[in-house]
Amino acid sequence: MDKKELWEAVLAQIQFKISKANFATWFKNTEIFIKKEGELIISVPNAFSKEWLEQKYNKFILKILHSLDKEIKEVKYTINRSALKVESQKTSISPSQTLIGQTEFEEFKINKKTCLNSRYAFENFIVGPFNEIAQAAAWAISENPGTVYNPLFIYGGVGLGKTHLLQAIGNKIIEASSDKKVKYISAEKFISGIVNSIRNQSIENFKSEYQKTDILIVDDIQFLAGKEKTQEEFFHLFNSLYEQDKQIVLSSDRLPKAIPALEERLRSRFEGGMIADIGSPDYETRLAILKSKIKQKEIELPEKILGFISSNIQNNIRELEGALNRLVIYQKMNNKTPDLEIAKSLLKKIIRTPPKVVTPSQLIKLVAEFYDLKERELLTPSRRKEIVKPRQIAMYLLREDLKSSYPSIGRKLGGKDHTTVIYGYKKIFEEIEKNESLAEEIKLIRQRICSG
Ligand code: ADP
Ligand code: MG
Repeated sequence: MDKKELWEAVLAQIQFKISKANFATWFKNTEIFIKKEGELIISVPNAFSKEWLEQKYNKFILKILHSLDKEIKEVKYTINRSALKVESQKTSISPSQTLIGQTEFEEFKINKKTCLNSRYAFENFIVGPFNEIAQAAAWAISENPGTVYNPLFIYGGVGLGKTHLLQAIGNKIIEASSDKKVKYISAEKFISGIVNSIRNQSIENFKSEYQKTDILIVDDIQFLAGKEKTQEEFFHLFNSLYEQDKQIVLSSDRLPKAIPALEERLRSRFEGGMIADIGSPDYETRLAILKSKIKQKEIELPEKILGFISSNIQNNIRELEGALNRLVIYQKMNNKTPDLEIAKSLLKKIIRTPPKVVTPSQLIKLVAEFYDLKERELLTPSRRKEIVKPRQIAMYLLREDLKSSYPSIGRKLGGKDHTTVIYGYKKIFEEIEKNESLAEEIKLIRQRICSG
């Protein structure tokens, strides 16, 4: 194999393992520059790629190279000077680069046994009024697994730190006692694990692997909605662990009550321990999070820019990080700190000002999605409880947030009479006062409207 063929073979393998966006960002315009006596030098287009490849992908690249050519023992990276010129002339960055968060590199830090990513720790989890209860509960559990709250159920909107907190629990427990068997899994993976093991007739093996855990952490449990077989298996697993005082930690984007098509017996198990929510971070905490992230990344950004990001990204910490990453990339590529104007233009796509305006049909669609219903089900005359309530919530939100008139809400919802709409609106209006979990559900739907 000559240099070119060898590198092509390597790229072909890498392409399988990482996301398209990452591949395009890190491996475009790379080639083997020199190959001699077990050492290989790869040329890359800029300093930033060099750093990433060295730090994040080196082992991976070396492993593939070695499998193709046993002689290769070492890989180095060098910047291709002609490419550097072109890069430094650019002031903006490509959309694929905006996708690069640290999260994209998780595959390299994930422990094979526990499935935990070591980057999620309590030390880098910023606490504010919106998440302090959840954080305190998580901390308490990691100090005394299986004894304080079981299960711990953490819920909240997208990108607000559920996964971070769940994994921090696991990481801390392992750190304190490495003999504890911790297992982290997303509900989606758990479901596919069940489905595959049924197909391969290995369900007993699958189950026994989970039975052995001391701490079982299942993320995004709302995905169990409607998965009957998985729910049944999970129910037995839950009971067996619970009876042995093994800790169970769950997360969801909503309260157990609001997970559609969830067996009653599971719902009551989920509600049997501690339920804690994570809300939206306030301005001060958003700023504190940004400051802690730039410290971790060892870069500096003017206070003004941090303030600008904190005021404009409100409902999602992942987006906060995404914004920061864009600026970091700019800084590394251009070797200078962006000023506020440049920052604004780099963040134009992420920051939506003025706030997103939703139309009535978009709102109806969001409500339907939240309750796992088809949009048209909300528009039918069905009197089924699972449909009536979401429909009334849609009426309420259309009236309350979009100020639509009762007759127009009736028309939008499949030709209901305006008196039906008034009834529905009032029902929810009054019930919110008494029913905390309904109020929570509506809060979560509103968050989705905002982060749309
Ligand atoms: P969720 O699971 O709720 O969708 P994640 O846990 O994936 O959210 O969090 C999104 C990103 O924001 C992650 O990179 C996480 O590290 C970061 N993050 C969330 N909450 C905090 C926090 N309180 N302090 C620092 N970083 C946070
Ligand atoms: Mg998550």
